[in-house]
Amino acid sequence: MSHEPLDRLLLPLSPSDPLLKPLRMGRQTFPGIWREMMPQALQQLRFPEERQAECMNCPKSCYENWRTDYRCCTYHPRISNFLLGLACQTPVGENAVDDLIRRGMLLPEGMHSSPQQWLDFVDDEHEDRFGKSQKVLCPMLDSATGYCRVHVFRNSVCSTYFCEKDQGHAGQEFWNQVQALGTQLEMRLAQWALREIGFDVEASLRALDELAPHLSQVSHDHGWHPDALRRIWGAWWGREKELLLACAAVIVKNRDRLWSIAQQQVIAEPYLFDQALLQEVPEEQREDEEDEAWEKVDLSALWQDCLVAHNALWDEPRDRFMLSPNVIFIPNHRQTAEEIYHQDKAVFIEYRFQNPERSLFFRLGISQEQQAALESFRGLGRKLREAGNDHLEFLKEMVHREVLWVVANP
Ligand code: SF4
Ligand code: SF4
Repeated sequence: MSHEPLDRLLLPLSPSDPLLKPLRMGRQTFPGIWREMMPQALQQLRFPEERQAECMNCPKSCYENWRTDYRCCTYHPRISNFLLGLACQTPVGENAVDDLIRRGMLLPEGMHSSPQQWLDFVDDEHEDRFGKSQKVLCPMLDSATGYCRVHVFRNSVCSTYFCEKDQGHAGQEFWNQVQALGTQLEMRLAQWALREIGFDVEASLRALDELAPHLSQVSHDHGWHPDALRRIWGAWWGREKELLLACAAVIVKNRDRLWSIAQQQVIAEPYLFDQALLQEVPEEQREDEEDEAWEKVDLSALWQDCLVAHNALWDEPRDRFMLSPNVIFIPNHRQTAEEIYHQDKAVFIEYRFQNPERSLFFRLGISQEQQAALESFRGLGRKLREAGNDHLEFLKEMVHREVLWVVANP
């Protein structure tokens, strides 16, 4: 453990440092820290383009009644201390962090919702209010502009969330795996950084566990109660930003070996506190919540899972396929806002669920040629290439979206 005086560990970084710049992979951008924290080979992968998750023309708020201001930012992400410390290197990010501190939503490991805020989120999820919530709104969003104030420093959950996936369930699986890897790295490095700067992680977790019997008194108006924060922060209470900067500084200083550092870490959790919190979830909502086990996960195995999910995205399936009977084609009349937005597409595919509560699974604009390629699978068991090479990529996408079904015994 290093014991350098804090003033030597504080930033600033050069404004042109890649850690402060977004990392572009495919059509998307990711946090700058991914350059150092994630395996280098991640940058060589082919990422799904996610053409439908057009955040500045959000289909969910245009056509599905989600909030136009917060859209999918109706949750409270856990953003690690070092990411917030890096965010403080930009004026907008520093303001966002100051707001977080004022609201009492900062724990030593990073941004963290209070128990009441988490219960509100569980309630929203159970009532299918994600995207529509009135009470769970991320404080990092600038609701006037719709921009995330810590976009280059957001966590792996935010970075890998796409409301619609080009590649359907295969895309979901890929992003889930990348998210699991990123989240593990963020949490391990956050605790490692705390120990490096001399913060007593175990004492802080003990303080949380001691709060377990008093859970109802731990939350405050927009975050944690100041008395609870004082106990959790210990001697660092009142020096929150200093701690974020110091954590960022040790991460920057060790930027070349973050993966090997993280591999040696085991995440410590406040078990009594977590258990007490789970007990507060109403019985009917409990099955939605899993007790996340952060420890005992092998980072290399997680990375291998990412690669397996990546290969599944792009490999050509050898099976025979037929057009799903759940799919219908609807001409684009170019009259509604959605139809005009997709005016270059002649047809919409609609994929309908049997579940009456969610009668529409997805709606996607396609060309007439693509419709013809799909129609050629109606009632038949054909291999994808039998429809010609021109539409192979599109047809693979349709397999992942379950528009084309595998024929078991042709
Ligand atoms: S990812 Fe979020 S903001 Fe972007 S299009 Fe989807 S719901 Fe809208
Ligand atoms: S951190 Fe940014 S991207 Fe994530 S929920 Fe908040 S505003 Fe949205």
